[in-house]
Amino acid sequence: MRSHLLNDTTTEHYRRSVTEGIERVAAKLATTVSPFTGVTVDALAPRIDEIDLDKPLHDTEAVLDELEDVYLRDAIYFHHPRYLAHLNCPVVIPAVLGEAILSAVNSSLDTWDQSAGGTLIERKLIDWTTARIGLGENADGVFTSGGTQSNLQALLLAREEAKPGRDGWEGPASLAKLRIFASEAGHFSVKKSAQLLGLGQDAVVCVPVGADKRMQTVALARELERCKQDGLVPMAVVATAGTTDFGSIDPLPEVAELCEQYGVWMHVDAAYGCGLLASVKYRDRIDGIERADSVTVDYHKSFFQPVSSSAVLVRDAATLRHATYHAEYLNPRRMVQERIPNQVDKSLQTTRRFDALKLWMTLRVMGADGIGQLFDEVCELAVEGWKLLAADPRYDVVVEPTLSTLVFRYIPAAVTDPAEIDRANLYARKALFASGDAIVAGTKVGGRHYLKFTLLNPETQASDIAAVLDLIAGHAEQYLGESLDRAS
Ligand SMILES: *Cc1c(COP(=O)(O)O)cnc(C)c1O
Repeated sequence: MRSHLLNDTTTEHYRRSVTEGIERVAAKLATTVSPFTGVTVDALAPRIDEIDLDKPLHDTEAVLDELEDVYLRDAIYFHHPRYLAHLNCPVVIPAVLGEAILSAVNSSLDTWDQSAGGTLIERKLIDWTTARIGLGENADGVFTSGGTQSNLQALLLAREEAKPGRDGWEGPASLAKLRIFASEAGHFSVKKSAQLLGLGQDAVVCVPVGADKRMQTVALARELERCKQDGLVPMAVVATAGTTDFGSIDPLPEVAELCEQYGVWMHVDAAYGCGLLASVKYRDRIDGIERADSVTVDYHKSFFQPVSSSAVLVRDAATLRHATYHAEYLNPRRMVQERIPNQVDKSLQTTRRFDALKLWMTLRVMGADGIGQLFDEVCELAVEGWKLLAADPRYDVVVEPTLSTLVFRYIPAAVTDPAEIDRANLYARKALFASGDAIVAGTKVGGRHYLKFTLLNPETQASDIAAVLDLIAGHAEQYLGESLDRAS
């Protein structure tokens, strides 16, 4: 069994095994004709159930054959141009190479004595990101597992910063007074964070959005004022730079003004919109982000990185101390004096992947402009898609795209019952998924069911969008036809 340990004596086995795996994936990518096979849970589950984990095959090749059957054949392939559903991107090759290297070396980024150079590479990428944002000389941050964790950490820092020195602060009982402001199109992880931070979900004040799906700052000002009048403590405003549903960007400069006026922590959730940090043409769409106290970026959404790759950035490095704990065995206090860089001092995680290497390889091979150009392309594709939808009488489209998302709904001329239209759209999404021809997402707007394209693949063409719209219309019409038969 020792032959399976990766070390100086097993490099040939390592090379062969990994190469075999790469060959399988390459063959798969070269031949997938649709993003999905449409396999059902009922069809797939027994194949996995029948495998006895206590009876190993002892043969890599056989295991890869088996994997074909239980995973590779029916996986959802984000690289396919007709995968248009969620915020998943096709990945760039330098990042995949980074992934292979980081798993094999297996550095853990919690302490210097588990990573050495990895720590410095991560720090340099954090500095690179904060410079792109414009957070200033004292900025810092750390890689995280994703936007959810980044938002949680940012709000933890905001909570701790909101506490000390406040008049009448009465310890834990006063936690109930803290309020977080986010738009109704903000991400659900804000509420989850409020819950985890002991504030309760009701601590999140939902600020309305306009028709453009951006936070209404007049309403934000009103809510902040009311909060103060009620003797409550505004803890943070979460501005979303790229809402998950619409890609809309809250008016960051106006939000920053209000945060300054009320002395509130400004967090910018740029999990999606961070791609603009590398954009060659559209960087100005997130102007104002440089005024944030903290920022969430998901490189695994708009930098074409494999999951996971994300970071939380802060204007004032000192605020990261709220996540610092010293353990004798790992990162004793004296190491701070000895200037040993232990990233665990800044992180909610302990053992932590060297995800930063993927971004490093990407920037070193392609450069930031290379990534930015790809992101610009999908933003431009979204504009083309919007024009198609706006000109198509079969569809109602919600809002002109700022990033790369389109929200729309099939509206048959002959049907007026909105509930029936809801059912037709829901059916079309399901039927399309079951066919495997394309994958689209869905959401609700004004209580009604809509469909959604999240465009993150520069290989997707306007003709793909047109073809998928025809497929959706076909499924919806079929549903309505059968529905009529049922009624008569
Ligand atoms: C995706 C997303 C998140 C959550 O990020 P994960 O990486 O999925 O944890 C948070 N905020 C916004 C706006 C997002 O789009």
